[in-house]
Amino acid sequence: MSTYRDFANRGSARATVLRTVGTRERRSHLTAPRVPTVGIDIGGTKVMAGVVDADGVILEKIKTETPDKSKSAKVVEDVITELVLDLSDRHDVHAVGIGAAGWVDADRSRVLFAPHLAWRDEPLRDALQARLAVPVMVDNDANTAAWAEWRFGAGRGEDHLVMITLGTGIGGAILEDGRVKRGKYGVAGEFGHMQVVPGGHRCPCGNRGCWEQYSSGNALVREARELAAADSPVAYNLIERVKGNVGDVTGPLITELAREGDAMCIELFQDIGQWLGVGIANLAAALDPACFVIGGGVSAADDLLIGPARDAFKRQLTGRGYRPEARIVKAELGPEAGMVGAADLSRLIARRFRRANRRRVERNERYARSSRTTQGSP
Ligand SMILES: [Zn+2]
Repeated sequence: MSTYRDFANRGSARATVLRTVGTRERRSHLTAPRVPTVGIDIGGTKVMAGVVDADGVILEKIKTETPDKSKSAKVVEDVITELVLDLSDRHDVHAVGIGAAGWVDADRSRVLFAPHLAWRDEPLRDALQARLAVPVMVDNDANTAAWAEWRFGAGRGEDHLVMITLGTGIGGAILEDGRVKRGKYGVAGEFGHMQVVPGGHRCPCGNRGCWEQYSSGNALVREARELAAADSPVAYNLIERVKGNVGDVTGPLITELAREGDAMCIELFQDIGQWLGVGIANLAAALDPACFVIGGGVSAADDLLIGPARDAFKRQLTGRGYRPEARIVKAELGPEAGMVGAADLSRLIARRFRRANRRRVERNERYARSSRTTQGSP
């Protein structure tokens, strides 16, 4: 048991390899037990939890609000525990996988940073495992969404896949030969902060000209609001829709107008689609995958977005005409992808157990909780 760790502490290169094998997933999805697990997707506004079977089918799904950023890490743990206990009343739960918007370390135990929550180097896996008595895994939500698309969605059968999630920003993940590539420290795939325009728009990350400032939901809304605020004649349709309240312009509204044929909204999608294609061409130069899967809320615009992205990609791809070109496809699983992927990834660490054992542990947790509330302690 301790041998590998002892060697690793001495800094032997061979022992480091052994330790890495020991602490990451030991199974592949092919040998993981075909048991139902719970996936939890923690986003900026909603926490979604669901029981998912080994074929990626959602057996039940529940939702709640994300606790405010000002709340302690303990409150978030309580919310997660509550959701899992609720689901385990009606289903067998053999493992819990969590997909969180944030940086998760390479061992998938600690959340290093989450922009919407109070987590700062939070040992989430161990804290939850102690309370839930089932194996727990934590991962970045883009990684879990990519895993779901690869297993059950648009990326099925691809051994080299890159997922790009277009939401308010850009998330990303790399999958190779059935493994998520997380990098040495767990934070690979932050494509949104590659600089594409030196000195360009300011980004919340602190830099300027990041890719997500040109190709994301935020970019779309920012451009539309700018045009509406300037009272541009091309934006009359949009201004009329929001009755002059520029602040009411949202991504879904722009998508709706574009679908109805509004020229300005179509143009905005062409712009962000074009930037999407430019970024994808850069990623193809670096990673050379067979397939790019485009997910996230903005991808609801379908070909209004992906068409221009494909054109720009073809124009920008390095070595074009002399190399096979990656496919660019729309994600298939929708907003549940992150949850389904988290559940399926957690099957890699799932344990078979006897139902009676689990019930006893859950009763303990319930008992501990009720005694906490009766004592009135925080
Ligand atoms: Zn940035």
